[in-house]
Amino acid sequence: MDQHPPSATRRGFVKAVGVAALGASTGTALSLAESRPPGAALPMPEGGQPETMRMLADLRRALEKKPQERRWAMVIDTRRCIGCSACTVACIAENNLPPGVTYRKVPDVEVGSYPDLQRVFMPTNCMQCDKPPCVKAANAIVPGAMRKRPDGIVQIDYAKMKGRRVFEAAKKACPYSALYFDEGKSHTEGTPAIQPYEKRAVLEYGRRWARRDTARSTRKCHFCADRLDAGLLPACVATCTGLAMRFGDASDPQSLVGETLAAGKGRRLEADSGTEPRVHYVNDWAEPDKPEPIVLNRPRIDCTACHSFGK
Ligand code: SF4
Repeated sequence: MDQHPPSATRRGFVKAVGVAALGASTGTALSLAESRPPGAALPMPEGGQPETMRMLADLRRALEKKPQERRWAMVIDTRRCIGCSACTVACIAENNLPPGVTYRKVPDVEVGSYPDLQRVFMPTNCMQCDKPPCVKAANAIVPGAMRKRPDGIVQIDYAKMKGRRVFEAAKKACPYSALYFDEGKSHTEGTPAIQPYEKRAVLEYGRRWARRDTARSTRKCHFCADRLDAGLLPACVATCTGLAMRFGDASDPQSLVGETLAAGKGRRLEADSGTEPRVHYVNDWAEPDKPEPIVLNRPRIDCTACHSFGK
């Protein structure tokens, strides 16, 4: 595991702040996309954690390929997660998420069976499945509501996927409880005024959506697709204090993600469901030469904020 630098010089600190600024998650993709001249290369930050810098370089290399040649994937090492939920906060800020909607959660789950039990923090989000049952279920009700992009990200058309009926169908089909219904509420409801930051537009799936567009629609993680297009890592990855996530182009054997998966270290949740998820997990619960599926004890948790594993 990479170590944090033993000490930070003032220059190092300034550089680190620069990196943090590039990775900051308060609508970064929106401001970058709108301020960057078309085709202009983003500056490469300096002084970040070696793993983060490598992932950024991997990402920039992947962006030179055609979308259908990239294979975005995430590997989550639960041994590194300290359960701080900084990723959840970054995600909420990046995507301007309303009450009740969280693209990413960090439930505390039990893995294994007695006497080989572990209790781990298990960050989770939409798995961007290669065979996504949610897409089929949603499109059976509203054609075109969801689709799989050429780069593998599962996309929602907020304008089409309106209302509870289509949401419930997609939610029922998803084995990972990754979908949320946006009730159109605001965090500052009941105060003298709804604050302007809650009304601001978001950049998701390549276009700018006003708050009225996302309200009463289905929401879910999209790997921060627009940050990726702008050459930035997903907000959760850029913010993770434990460096628990690896992100990149799995089809690139030189990338950190490609290297990790080629070493046979990743395990997938609900592997027998046939959904082919693109999020993989690493822990020491199975040896690389024993590719056992992850078995989570059920009922695993009793937490209203963490229903992903509590079915
Ligand atoms: Fe669809 Fe759920 Fe797979 Fe995401 S995790 S693509 S919402 S089935």
